[in-house]
Amino acid sequence: MARDYYEVLGVARDASAREIKKAFLGKARELHPDVSDAPDAEERFKEVNEAYSVLSDEQKRANYDRFGTAEVPMGGFDMGDIFGGGLDDIFSSFFGGGAPGARGARTHGRDMGIRLQITLADAAAGCSKTVAYDRLATCEHCHGSGAEEGGEVVTCPTCRGAGRVTQVQRTILGAMQTQTTCPQCHGEGKVVSKPCPECHGEGRVSGHERVRVEIPAGVRDGQRLVVPGKGEAGLRGDEAGDLVVQVSVAQDEHFERQGDDLWCEREISAFQAMLGCELSVEGILADELVKVPVPAGTQPGDAVSVPGAGMPNARGRRGKLVVVVRVRVPRDLSEEERTQLSAMSRRRGEGTGLDFAGPDLFDELDGADEDSSGRKPKARRPHKRGRK
Ligand SMILES: [Zn+2]
Ligand SMILES: [Zn+2]
Repeated sequence: MARDYYEVLGVARDASAREIKKAFLGKARELHPDVSDAPDAEERFKEVNEAYSVLSDEQKRANYDRFGTAEVPMGGFDMGDIFGGGLDDIFSSFFGGGAPGARGARTHGRDMGIRLQITLADAAAGCSKTVAYDRLATCEHCHGSGAEEGGEVVTCPTCRGAGRVTQVQRTILGAMQTQTTCPQCHGEGKVVSKPCPECHGEGRVSGHERVRVEIPAGVRDGQRLVVPGKGEAGLRGDEAGDLVVQVSVAQDEHFERQGDDLWCEREISAFQAMLGCELSVEGILADELVKVPVPAGTQPGDAVSVPGAGMPNARGRRGKLVVVVRVRVPRDLSEEERTQLSAMSRRRGEGTGLDFAGPDLFDELDGADEDSSGRKPKARRPHKRGRK
């Protein structure tokens, strides 16, 4: 994770715009690659620039305070897929958090956001997923107290409880006074007399966390689920933040979700469309087969709905399954089928203008079934052209 911008500039969280500018100018002069010989000067100079570009912009600073990033998250939340790829932890980031305390120090753990992508089928059935992320967790060694045995919380000797110290820097423009967050207590004004060696008195250490998240059936895309206490641990045993899991439901290959309804497409033949048919459509739940009654005379693009076969919702009901019917016109008619269809078409008074067979063929067809004895059918009209 990037370093804390306030720390980079050495200012308190509630520093004024002027203080921030002053601190930046001081750091920039000190670290400018043309001036400084320190091997990491260039990198730190970049860091200072980045910190200043965020903290000097009122909007970006507000976002940073709230979300831990300068960019406005989409819908106030989405911090972008900076980690891309993985199914479980696509990204994790801080957001929210308590207001700065009296001295600008925050002792409550911040809430953390993590995005979890699931399939539409998982969203329909509900599922249980493990998310993995890094967080500041309660130190096991001191159980969050921050103190080694016999240690206690005392007023910070460096800042005498103020949380800030004043530094005087010699710069090319002369002496400059800067107030910075106290390096010993990090602005809190209190330290532990005998700090825990594991967490250096913080009561929390960074660690990798795996949390099982129960996702209810019918979860919506973008819905947030809260896992209490699984955000950042608080300073020295103070209240921990929550883990907020934003569920992202992936597009499905077969179904499109519209509210509680599921839409899909199926192809039927022109004959099935004319006569009506019953389709078996695989539903969204495992091993679910939905019978879809397609009425006779269905037109291309018609939608047939089956209530109760759509997406389950939080109220335990299900929406509709809506099947949009595509009609396939056969291209592989046999000679016999062509003749029969042509005859039907003529009977309906719908000539094709192609003249496959003469009108007297009706008689021939009507008698065709009985004609198994080799008896010659009635004479054809001389102008009949036959096939093609
Ligand atoms: Zn500890
Ligand atoms: Zn201090």
